[in-house]
Amino acid sequence: MSSALLMLRGLLYRPWLLATLAASASAILLLLASLGVAMHQLQVNESEQMNARGERFLDRLEQIFGQLREGVDELQAQPARGCDATMLAALQQVAFNNRFVFEAAYVDGQQTCSNRLGDRTFESLPPPDIQGPTYSYWLNTSTEPDDNRAALVLGRGPFRVSTSRGHLTDVVDLPAGGSLLVVLDRGARAVPVLGPVQAWPPPGDVWPPVSTKALVELPDRLVYRMPTKSPDYQLVLIAPRASLPLKINGVLWLLFPGSLLLAWCIGWAVLQLVRQSRSMSSELQGALRRGELQVLYQPIFELTSRNCVGAEALVRWRRPDGSLTSPDLFIPLAENTGQIRQITDFVLQRVFDQLAQLLRANPKLYISVNLAACDVMVPRIGRVAARLLATHHVAASQIAFEVTERGLIDVVVARDNLQALRAVGHQVLIDDFGTGYCSLAYLQTLPVDCLKIDKAFIDALGHDAASSGVAPHIIRMAHALQLRVIAEGIEYEDQALLLNSEGVNYGQGWLFAHPLSARQFVELITRGRRLGPRRIDDEA
Ligand code: C2E
Ligand code: CA
Ligand code: CA
Repeated sequence: MSSALLMLRGLLYRPWLLATLAASASAILLLLASLGVAMHQLQVNESEQMNARGERFLDRLEQIFGQLREGVDELQAQPARGCDATMLAALQQVAFNNRFVFEAAYVDGQQTCSNRLGDRTFESLPPPDIQGPTYSYWLNTSTEPDDNRAALVLGRGPFRVSTSRGHLTDVVDLPAGGSLLVVLDRGARAVPVLGPVQAWPPPGDVWPPVSTKALVELPDRLVYRMPTKSPDYQLVLIAPRASLPLKINGVLWLLFPGSLLLAWCIGWAVLQLVRQSRSMSSELQGALRRGELQVLYQPIFELTSRNCVGAEALVRWRRPDGSLTSPDLFIPLAENTGQIRQITDFVLQRVFDQLAQLLRANPKLYISVNLAACDVMVPRIGRVAARLLATHHVAASQIAFEVTERGLIDVVVARDNLQALRAVGHQVLIDDFGTGYCSLAYLQTLPVDCLKIDKAFIDALGHDAASSGVAPHIIRMAHALQLRVIAEGIEYEDQALLLNSEGVNYGQGWLFAHPLSARQFVELITRGRRLGPRRIDDEA
């Protein structure tokens, strides 16, 4: 048996350890999975927020620029030039009419005047950052953190209007550490209008962006590009992503207890399952001791003559309350716990106890016994059978062994043991053929006498299902290798006829007989092996 299986079996006997392992593994997995989902969700939220913020920004900036343009257009349209009282009134009127105009000024090289007496913002303006055909733009004209200083200046002819840093911060809710930049010279230069100076271009060769999406996501920052009508400049909002680990911390506090609770539930469920299977395995042990296991015999018939040629021994567990537990439930469990060896020995012993006399009287009659994978992996079963054969004077050819394809995992070891069984005269049958991985080439290397076609393929016969062609294929394969074929689970006469016409010689199924008690089986054989007018029923 492989070391992994042995380890698993060892764990089965330490339910607490298994439950703790399951709980810890699921806690780690759950935590990692929920952390991944939470991080992804946070990033998506952050990006969505940035998109929404960017759109809001653009709206408000357009409002501000709109008012600045209106203001400067109004001044340009009025006739006054020079710094007289009419001009001052016009400048004050424009500032008064437009909420976002903080200062309006007249600058013609010789004289400068503004609605804000005493302020001298416009005297020393450098050349404009953006020179359009109609308007000139000055960005971030002051680095002083004074809210009452111009942040954006728009010029037309001798007139200048500006909005203050205070106005800008009022209308745009800049994220902490974020900046609003105007990108100039085809992306080569960026002037921060609000917020701290940012390294430009952003690191990582991401500018100019290849995608047309407004939001560019970098590992440490988000960059939102706002579309502008002018090709000369772009508005860009940059926000750091530094807040992410902090936010994750918050989410973790919610995830942590949730994942632990779920992991605890999984551990508890595993504990219950293991305890249940352990209690079933100890029940099975008791059942073996108290003799609650029985063996039934399902006759196997020659399809042409409808004569019974043998039977398959099938184990049953009848509990003291009369209920039956299906072998499909307790055989796999017994295979896991190793109790299957005791069951195989019990079945063999019972076959000899109940049928040795019948077998001696009918030397061509045989009984086939199911073997589990672990029975095939060691030569033990050959010794057990040899002892019983000698005691009861029965020929080895009258005991056949059924192995499933799944039972041939380590094929080299299995092959030697099967060969040893055949060498003393036993027949070897491959059970449930077609459900495993046996190919023709593989089959050729196995020391077997007969194939049993699984019931699923017999059921599919004559239907349009994709598997309906499997049985004829198996039959052809078996004939090519000169193997006998037994069809399992025949329930209808048409199936028996069809199989017979395909060259199948033997069959087993409810059409002929359910599994019978030893007494019923002996009766069938002594009556002359032929089927009676009524189907023979399962006594159990
Ligand atoms: P299996 O070896 O394929 O046995 C054939 C199963 O098909 C038996 O179920 C049998 O009662 C059932 N069967 C036979 N003819 C028909 C039919 O016409 N229609 C239908 N629907 N079913 C039919 P059972 O006795 O419940 O056994 C189930 C499985 O348990 C067996 O499948 C075998 O894998 C395992 N098993 C039974 N007894 C033993 C045993 O002594 N040792 C081992 N290792 N496994 C056993
Ligand atoms: Ca079988
Ligand atoms: Ca079978």
